Amino acid sequence: MTKPLKQGAVIGILGGGQLGRMLAVAASRMGFRTHVFEPQENPPASHVSDLVTTAAYEDTEALSKFARSVDVITFEFENIPTEALNIVEAICNVLPARNALKTSQDRLIEKEFLTNLNLTVAPYANIETEEDLTQAIKIVGFPSILKTRRFGYDGKGQFKIKNETDLKNSWAELKNSPCVLEGLVNFTKEISVIGARNQDGEVVCFDPGENLHRDGILHTTTLPANISASQNIDAVLLTGKILNALNYVGVMGVELFVTKDGLLINEIAPRVHNSGHWTQNGCVIDQFEQHIRAISGWPLGDGKRHSNVLMTNLIGSEVLDVETLSRDTDVGIHLYGKADAKDGRKMGHINKILN
Ligand code: AMP
Repeated sequence: MTKPLKQGAVIGILGGGQLGRMLAVAASRMGFRTHVFEPQENPPASHVSDLVTTAAYEDTEALSKFARSVDVITFEFENIPTEALNIVEAICNVLPARNALKTSQDRLIEKEFLTNLNLTVAPYANIETEEDLTQAIKIVGFPSILKTRRFGYDGKGQFKIKNETDLKNSWAELKNSPCVLEGLVNFTKEISVIGARNQDGEVVCFDPGENLHRDGILHTTTLPANISASQNIDAVLLTGKILNALNYVGVMGVELFVTKDGLLINEIAPRVHNSGHWTQNGCVIDQFEQHIRAISGWPLGDGKRHSNVLMTNLIGSEVLDVETLSRDTDVGIHLYGKADAKDGRKMGHINKILN
């Protein structure tokens, strides 16, 4: 059995956005202190953390100092620069470990990893040159999606390709970055599973949630997902397989397409996930506490859902309706403390209890 971190131990969090904020709140509730590392001033997590370092990921001295001040390091996003990781990892344990980051940072490596586990992904091809693209489109066909291998999120860095003109235009946009060409999946719905694994190899998954996107950004997650019992079990089992294959420690989000031929994996995220926010009001132990439990050597919560939930993201000016929303006593409100309600910016979310 892993020895749990002592009360008062410091959890280091790379990234100070809303996910870092909600991780810090969970850690604090469990008697830990938190130290957030974030390049931008006044990030959401800084309002709820014991310590904050404001420095760039290139600032090696600040990174070393941060790593020396904490007992374990975790992160809220997967695109942490490699050099920064090298520095902190040499001083302090980083969980989830490097292999999970490496796998999920690059869509090609991710797809190869999943395929090697005999899991199904959309048809894909590696694209480095225009000639690669010309050959790949003959196999993958129209319609398809060209995506950058790295740094894509919320539908950014990707283009739908319906014809030769789209093909030319998307290549003109993305030719400077390595890409993958993916077949467009004719899915009936999108679901995701939030799974967790601790240092003793214990694995627990929350129920799959059904996701709706708007303008490439997650709009709602509904629990339970309207899927069959066997799809439910498939989704949970394949998540467990991924967690075990990576010897993973922490919470992971697995995004899936439901098709008439079965489940396809869209992508994996080695962190707490927007589509897992429903757990805050649907489970006794939510994804944030589950993550902190996993990385600090505690036993995991059982993942059981006590309520049906509709999670809705508040994007941009939608957050201005919060006064009206707060009149509904079946709604849990979660705001991120961001100053400007800019278009497309995730400002908060609400969890409406459905039963
Ligand atoms: P991603 O950034 O890869 O998660 O993609 C964002 C959204 O684009 C997904 O949630 C899907 O709605 C859609 N999408 C991405 N890849 C595909 C695909 N191969 N086929 C169909 N829809 C896709």
